[in-house]
Amino acid sequence: MSVLDENIAKLSSYLAGFRDTGIQNRIGGEDCAGSGGVFQSISPVDRSVICDVARGDETDVDAAAQAAAWAFPAWRDLPATQRRKILIDVAGAIEARAEEIAFCECWDTGQTLRFMSKAALRGAENFRYFADQVVQARDGQHLKSPTLMNITTRVPIGPVGVITPWNTPFMLSTWKIAPALAAGCTVVHKPAEDSPLTARLLVEIAEGAGLPPGVLNTVNGFGHDAGKRLTRHKAIKAIAFVGESRTGSIITRQGADTLKRMHLELGGKNPVIVFDDADLDRALDAVIFMIYSINGERCTSSSRLLVQDTIREEFEARLVERVNNIKVGHPLDPATEVGPLVTEEHFNKVMSYFDIAREDGATVAAGGQTVGDTGYFVRPTLFTNADNSMRIAQEEIFGPVLTSIPFSTEEEALEMANDTAYGLTGYVWTNDLTRALRFTDRLEAGMIWVNSENVRHLPTPFGGVKASGIGRDGGDWSFDFYMEQKHIGFATGQHKIMRLGA
Ligand code: NAD
Repeated sequence: MSVLDENIAKLSSYLAGFRDTGIQNRIGGEDCAGSGGVFQSISPVDRSVICDVARGDETDVDAAAQAAAWAFPAWRDLPATQRRKILIDVAGAIEARAEEIAFCECWDTGQTLRFMSKAALRGAENFRYFADQVVQARDGQHLKSPTLMNITTRVPIGPVGVITPWNTPFMLSTWKIAPALAAGCTVVHKPAEDSPLTARLLVEIAEGAGLPPGVLNTVNGFGHDAGKRLTRHKAIKAIAFVGESRTGSIITRQGADTLKRMHLELGGKNPVIVFDDADLDRALDAVIFMIYSINGERCTSSSRLLVQDTIREEFEARLVERVNNIKVGHPLDPATEVGPLVTEEHFNKVMSYFDIAREDGATVAAGGQTVGDTGYFVRPTLFTNADNSMRIAQEEIFGPVLTSIPFSTEEEALEMANDTAYGLTGYVWTNDLTRALRFTDRLEAGMIWVNSENVRHLPTPFGGVKASGIGRDGGDWSFDFYMEQKHIGFATGQHKIMRLGA
């Protein structure tokens, strides 16, 4: 039996529960059917139905918001050390079921085991990291003035909504939910309709590890009904959203009437800039990794390669050879590097750019085709002879598709790098230190790596500028979002109070 066959057999056992009962909403610690009926979760590997999923609508979101509001005071007031212990237990329980989470994620989203085997562990790490901050989360400052002793403190904002997309959904959900819970907030989670499996596992695991009922509630469903209601609900004090830039502006409008605090992590069209003095072997590995790993369905992917014209020909030739060698296949085959795209709609979107590239005059130097006819597979693709004004250089394709654009001077590279609506990440490859300092200072991006691919360090701020988002995650920035800052001034003596009407 091959490893793939063994993995498929294991998958079948992991999916049995989902097949038997479908996915229910989880509200106040109870399984609940969706008031909107059911929808189906489809695997992108072979287009088969995985299971029915409860379709939550306004009624279910109202019930979940009520459950979160009911659970909030006790969770807020739980001694920090107890909250910390529960979150650490959740991390341990995630690790214990890491394989199941990874297999379900692969089948539900088309992500490969090569990358998803670590996604559950990253999720556990998110819980552990924020659990360790719990004890200090409420601490503030002492700011003495001549007449007052001023102190600051932070308190959890209240029940919050977390709305997540379908790309690496387990890891992304934990990245939002773990700091919210650590801060003392309760949560209503609306996972993406295209990837509901691991959100269900998360709430099940968390409750099993001791998270009290109602502290985390999961309502499945679509953005335009369940999602919309969550962003408008009065009891929900903030929305942590990850998804498309267009959706980010829609939900900002939806949240306006209730003055909802919003944290938006949105799309990107991130540049990787390769200068001719860089370590080109490492740059090549990083360029390939940052667009073709995770099926290119990654907000931080470097989907625009800006390469200096002096090295362009050789660099692109080496790229073509490597890209043509990338193994596309079954996500549960450990050898697979790129799996199928998440849905038929997304597959059609990515494929449409193969024609757009040709119509706009670019060259399809690698890929540009689909693979097989059972699932949503495309060949890793490279466009060359492109310029920065083309749609393939401006629009987020969100697949394993790279657009290569030449530049001659540093000024030109900077101008092209910044000439985009987005500003999530940037990657700079050069061995000239002063150039790196100069360039990164003027590069419009929330996160920049020099001579490195994206290596996430949880204490650092994560987020974008321009159309890539508002707000930051990571370290204490997460607590700033999920908590309210308070100032309290205590008179230290009998200072003069102005007397009116005396
Ligand atoms: P999407 O915006 O279509 O959906 C994201 C979530 O929003 C889903 O749960 C969806 O149901 C919900 N939603 C949709 N309309 C809504 C509405 N009107 N009200 C409330 N909720 C609504 O995004 P997607 O296609 O699932 O995900 C891909 C996008 O996410 C890409 O643009 C990618 O760059 C972005 N992303 C960004 C980051 C980041 O950290 N910046 C991380 C991952 C993904």
